[in-house]
Amino acid sequence: MRDYRDIPSWKDVTKEQWLDWKWQLRNSIHDTKILNDVFKLDSEELREVKAVLQEFPMSVTPYYLSLIDPENENDPVKQQAIPTIKEMNVSKGDLLDPLDEDVDSPVEGITHRYPDRVLMLVTHVCSMYCRHCTRRRKVGEVDRHIGGDLLDKQIEYIKNTPSVRDVLISGGDPLMLSTAQLEKIISRVYEIPHVEIIRLGSRMPVVLPMRIDDELVNMLKKYHPVYINTHFNHPNEITKYSAAACDKLNNAGVPLGNQTVLLRGVNDCPHVMKKLMHKLLQIRVKPYYMYQCDASRGISHFRTSIGKGIEIIESLRGHTTGMAVPVYVVDAPGGGGKIPISPQYLISRSQDHTILRNFEGVITVYHDNCKGHSVCGKDEACSDPKYKIKKGVAHIFANPEEIIEPSHKPRKLH
Ligand SMILES: *Cc1c(COP(=O)(O)O)cnc(C)c1O
Ligand code: SF4
Repeated sequence: MRDYRDIPSWKDVTKEQWLDWKWQLRNSIHDTKILNDVFKLDSEELREVKAVLQEFPMSVTPYYLSLIDPENENDPVKQQAIPTIKEMNVSKGDLLDPLDEDVDSPVEGITHRYPDRVLMLVTHVCSMYCRHCTRRRKVGEVDRHIGGDLLDKQIEYIKNTPSVRDVLISGGDPLMLSTAQLEKIISRVYEIPHVEIIRLGSRMPVVLPMRIDDELVNMLKKYHPVYINTHFNHPNEITKYSAAACDKLNNAGVPLGNQTVLLRGVNDCPHVMKKLMHKLLQIRVKPYYMYQCDASRGISHFRTSIGKGIEIIESLRGHTTGMAVPVYVVDAPGGGGKIPISPQYLISRSQDHTILRNFEGVITVYHDNCKGHSVCGKDEACSDPKYKIKKGVAHIFANPEEIIEPSHKPRKLH
């Protein structure tokens, strides 16, 4: 990371100011002035960014901006933070509410899609507006926290719905609320007898790690079990500041998970993903989900094929620590929820045998060992060479002692 004082607008900023999350929020970048300072945009680029800002808001914390290498046109942090004209492309299939979160909403700000847990939105704002955000908003749309009457209704709904044992507080970014405001919400959820765990979804450890201060963690500690899922997408986002924020949360007993979004040109590469997952484990963040980029409007340039996601999981599972492998999910359009997707490890099955392959490409047989054979060995077709199956995976059903092994494999099976 560069020294932030190299950026002309911040050359007189003190270390104390820089580490103050309120200073960071007050000085977040919403227009093209400082962008120009950092990137020396030409008039065409300036015009393009301004055009996008008519449609979608921008907000970048000075800290997150400082992670960008201005010499690198394809910088992974820049792509997540700085608008490009590509956002104006509306492609076929783009949707405003791709996950139909509004449809599964019994009261405003609650999405109840799964039987035992709800998503509770407490604010519409974030410190950094991810260019790839699912919940993209248009300029002029509500930019505020939810409170008062609406909060009462949300709490009332959870109280009256005893099946809810897990409340996921999200937004926007719930850590945009002051610690006192957040405590008002968390303490009310905590008091509901059937709520067993509270989860927060926040990108603050990534985009504004200074927000994770002692006041916050001392408050959260009172309402355990509290979990936080955050959103790191690239190894460059793991800095001494984000590591310190995660340390504080872990030390306060808040387990951390990570939800990565698979983004073309940012992290759609098995090597980058592996490095990210390793670095996350080093700062005690457990990779949880890797999301397929969904169908929100104006983000089609970030989308990869599902095949790319499978390729990434293929390159992780077995090749590295199991804890470093997130679950790859596609959030089904139309409110179908998260659907896990994985490479195929189950190759075929018969009644008694399941043919599996491992990460090395070794094909093995699991003997299902259920009692009672059907026709096996009793019919004359079994011994008739005319009907004998000699090839392919089906051959293994009849010869379960066989193992198929790629010849290039260094470690041979015994
Ligand atoms: C993702 C999500 C949840 C939480 O899902 P988990 O798989 O339990 O992490 C809950 N509600 C909604 C609407 C969601 O999109
Ligand atoms: S932090 Fe989350 S809700 Fe906020 S802009 Fe980023 S992806 Fe969207």
